[in-house]
Amino acid sequence: MITPRGGGTEVGRSCYHLQAGDHDYLIDCGLKQSDRPEYPLFEDVSQGQIDAVFVTHAHIDHIGGLPIAEHHGLLSDDASIFMTRPTNALASILLHDSLQIHKQETAKLNQPQQFTATDVERVLARVMSVGYDRDQHLNITYEFGDAAHLLGSAWIAIEYNDRRVVFSGDLGGRSAHLGDIDDPPEADELFLESTYGETLQHRSFTDARTELYQQAKQAHANGIPVLIPTFAVGRAQEILQIFREREADLRDAVDAEPSIIYDGLITESMSVYEVFCQDAFMNESILNYRINSGDVEPFTPVCARTPDTMDERERLLTGSEAPIIIAPSGMLTGGWSPYYLRDLARYYEKAQILFIGYQAQGTPGRRLIEASGDVADVRVTALPASEDYDPVTGEFAFRDQEIHVPTAWIHQISGMSAHAGANDLLSFARQVNPQEISLIHGPPSAAGHLREYLSDNTTANTIQIAQHLEPIEIESERENGDDEQSRPTHTSDSPSDSAPDSHITDVDVKEIRERQRQLEAELETLRHKVEHLINNN
Ligand SMILES: [Zn+2]
Ligand SMILES: [Zn+2]
Repeated sequence: MITPRGGGTEVGRSCYHLQAGDHDYLIDCGLKQSDRPEYPLFEDVSQGQIDAVFVTHAHIDHIGGLPIAEHHGLLSDDASIFMTRPTNALASILLHDSLQIHKQETAKLNQPQQFTATDVERVLARVMSVGYDRDQHLNITYEFGDAAHLLGSAWIAIEYNDRRVVFSGDLGGRSAHLGDIDDPPEADELFLESTYGETLQHRSFTDARTELYQQAKQAHANGIPVLIPTFAVGRAQEILQIFREREADLRDAVDAEPSIIYDGLITESMSVYEVFCQDAFMNESILNYRINSGDVEPFTPVCARTPDTMDERERLLTGSEAPIIIAPSGMLTGGWSPYYLRDLARYYEKAQILFIGYQAQGTPGRRLIEASGDVADVRVTALPASEDYDPVTGEFAFRDQEIHVPTAWIHQISGMSAHAGANDLLSFARQVNPQEISLIHGPPSAAGHLREYLSDNTTANTIQIAQHLEPIEIESERENGDDEQSRPTHTSDSPSDSAPDSHITDVDVKEIRERQRQLEAELETLRHKVEHLINNN
């Protein structure tokens, strides 16, 4: 039985709870970053109930909830967290960053922290690194295969009791340095991401790379600064790689030394990309380049640099220089991109903001791409400019600021996404050839479109959009799954669950309990919304 605890009809906080016999597993445990961070719905998970976690990749919507699960003691003492080696390295960087963001947010709202540095350390201490291989753990067999979405990313197949389920994780196949998606095995059930379920076929990745480069080059040659807000890990390396490959051309165009700046987590994650520039994780073209050129920094143009100090950042954008800046976050929700945007708006007549990724509802990025009129007013959270530092305390905390951005600066470049389009999702689904498909990790309309598309083009009996806390039974072709129903529910052997009905096997009562769980979760969501409204008034 698999219960989605996040990632149903949303992009964010991916978390799927697999109950197999008397063991409980999580596949991913993410965080949804919005105005107010949302964690997986763990209300009915008891202490120590989770025996192991399997992680598809290091993006925070797949790992950001792990410290919360740790904080609440949901993982058993000896629970391991399985992930590939690059995922482990990136997760360490991203979880520490997530902790910093969490500290800032809770301090701003004057609320207690929901997890601490100790939780992050405990999570990392549990990690078991795995390759793209098959192995056993407790009562299941697991297999990791390359998902080609991010360095170290994986789809994960899990087998228990003659049944197999494949979790797609996030599927890519759109990268100039990653390999191809490994063929998944056939399975009874497929949990399939649907982020771009509405886009049948992305524009070619090569065309998107060319457009991004041409736009940036033209601006740079005309002395106009460029800001490319991006995910710190993955897309940032893709972008820098574009400029590295065309550095000679860029130099010709500007007739001088080009100026490319990257900042924040991009810098920290770069060494992971350099270390794992190996056979198992990257494609032939980047490996060949690295070997033939002897360049140990295959993602960084020679002319690119990263500022070390606030003074250096200040000097970059005073109106006289016109660099190409690559900075996280991709939706201007945090990190250095809002800082640079603020300074561009403050000091420059002209600039270009190139959005290359999805802009979620409610983010400054979304407000900018949807803005009409000549100027877009947008609130961002950024470090203050130097004249706003508190000279006495030396404090420079992040603070909300309203900025005004000319709409003529704003451009969107499509086709740079790291997610497969519907046609590639379909071919993955056909390879898995399941009886049932549960769509996850997508906005409702994207999941809806993909559902139609898959039902027209696959032989699956059931294609559903997974809903939070609605359990999905895994039926096998070889048996009808009756034994799963007659087994006592797992909570019966959990010591902290001493409710008198803990040995209930009656299906009706089970359904009522599920319904109760759902209602409790809905209530929880409502409570959050009300709190949020109160806080904002
Ligand atoms: Zn991802
Ligand atoms: Zn994701």
